[in-house]
Amino acid sequence: GTMLPDIPLPIDIMENWKNSQGIDLADRDTLIDTARKVNAVEFEPEGTDAVHEDPHHPSGRSRAFIESTRTSNEDVHGAITAAQAAYPEWDLRPVEERAGLLEKFADVLEDNRIELMGLVVKEAFRSIPDALSEVREAADFCRYYAHRARIDMPSVRLPGPTGEYNAMKLEGRGTFATVSPWNFPLAIFVGQNAAALVTGNTVVAKPAPQTPTIARRVVELAHQCGIPEDAWKLVTGGADVGAELMADTRIAGVAFTGSIGTAKRIASTLLVDEERPIIPFIAETGGVNAMIVDSTALPEQVAADVMTSAFQSAGQRCSALRMLIIQEDVADEMIAMLSGAMDMLYLGDPGDPATDVGPVIDRDAYDKLMSYRETVRPRWIKTVEAPEEGLFVPPTMIAIDEVEDLNREWFGPLIHVTTWKAGRLKETVQRVNAKGYGLTMGLHSRIQKSADIMQTWGRVGNMYINRSQIGAIVGNQPFGGEGLSGTGPKAGGPHYLPRFCAERAVSIDT
Ligand code: NAD
Repeated sequence: GTMLPDIPLPIDIMENWKNSQGIDLADRDTLIDTARKVNAVEFEPEGTDAVHEDPHHPSGRSRAFIESTRTSNEDVHGAITAAQAAYPEWDLRPVEERAGLLEKFADVLEDNRIELMGLVVKEAFRSIPDALSEVREAADFCRYYAHRARIDMPSVRLPGPTGEYNAMKLEGRGTFATVSPWNFPLAIFVGQNAAALVTGNTVVAKPAPQTPTIARRVVELAHQCGIPEDAWKLVTGGADVGAELMADTRIAGVAFTGSIGTAKRIASTLLVDEERPIIPFIAETGGVNAMIVDSTALPEQVAADVMTSAFQSAGQRCSALRMLIIQEDVADEMIAMLSGAMDMLYLGDPGDPATDVGPVIDRDAYDKLMSYRETVRPRWIKTVEAPEEGLFVPPTMIAIDEVEDLNREWFGPLIHVTTWKAGRLKETVQRVNAKGYGLTMGLHSRIQKSADIMQTWGRVGNMYINRSQIGAIVGNQPFGGEGLSGTGPKAGGPHYLPRFCAERAVSIDT
């Protein structure tokens, strides 16, 4: 048995929210059959770039391609005008109606699971299991926020003296702008917009320029479910379209997921104009996520959890493990075990059911990662062979002297390794905290006191003890960080929706 305490989780699981079980990909035949169906999905990417004939082509997401899918500035402003006009009617609908529509949408996402998985695999190069998780998470977000809206939105009566009626309620704020990344092109895109919509806002959504086709299909399905066309508008393109959207002073709030650099640029845009109202800005950004391993940890379990945390999705997860800190006494043994595990990783096409690590998202990302990897070549502890064709960054273990030597996020399958001295766990945790990021942190230890130290001193949104540190489940592990990793509130958590709302109190002399 584990020496860790039972930690009561403040979850409220409700009747109508189910973590859909999807398809059991642990079963080999099911996996192969699913991969066959997913690979057969027709993918007609937006844009005019001919290289899209081959979705693994290195320049599949060229500038020309992004330009060809770009919404014009005029249409960006037109989308805001339409969404604003749709807002009052949508906001005045009973919460039950919006929640019901989202639940219907969740069902439809699941009904179209194979097609959506196909788009995720072909447009974002995600693996078959990752693609299935995205459909499940997208549906979970819809059901969870529908549930939360029923709890959060209705008026509540407040106390007061005799003759006075006091009440408070949450309402939508107007038209939200949502901006999302390519690494969860389905789940994050759906999550942000579902939250804004269920609370009575209308939205103008800008997905990542790498993944417009998935977004377009999702919005189409939402409209087919009865979510009004003008309540959920889509604009596509890159940073310039995003900036155009942010500059429009009519937007009533922003939900952003992406890099810290972009988050800061947006924040300054929102503040610069003196006439502009102050609006909510929800940002979920990256991290320099650490895992600390002590000498009591089970080496096989550590190896398995490190492979998953650092290399699944080719390390392209905000939660992914970037820095492994091993207790000095067991470092050599641990590194040998990890090197052996890395040799077992299969690098292959996203649609190949055997793939552990696929290609990275685009040429830009590939070049940045490969050039950094090259500059630290003398510090490589271990790397593996990668296929020659395609944008494969070989998973690589890189030595650093101390925790302070890694201060930025490398968004790919690169893991940095350093050591710590027995008895200095609290200090080590605090040195990680001192980086200023605060997304995920992991600990592998069978000592109760160490688990306590981590929980007392860790300054991250998501702490993982004796398990992998990716793959947060909606409602079970509300997800999001602090400091340079985000503003909160946590996606898939009980405090998310109020941030999208205006709070209004009324007092009546009766
Ligand atoms: P990015 O910041 O480059 O882009 C994110 C989105 O912002 C895209 O849609 C992009 O077009 C848009 N954008 C860029 N410049 C803009 C501007 N000036 N104004 C408005 N919009 C603008 O990030 P990315 O490369 O797409 O995604 C990877 C990053 O996202 C990583 O840093 C990762 O850690 C982070 N991420 C965080 C979470 C989380 O929940 N904390 C989840 C997934 C990804």
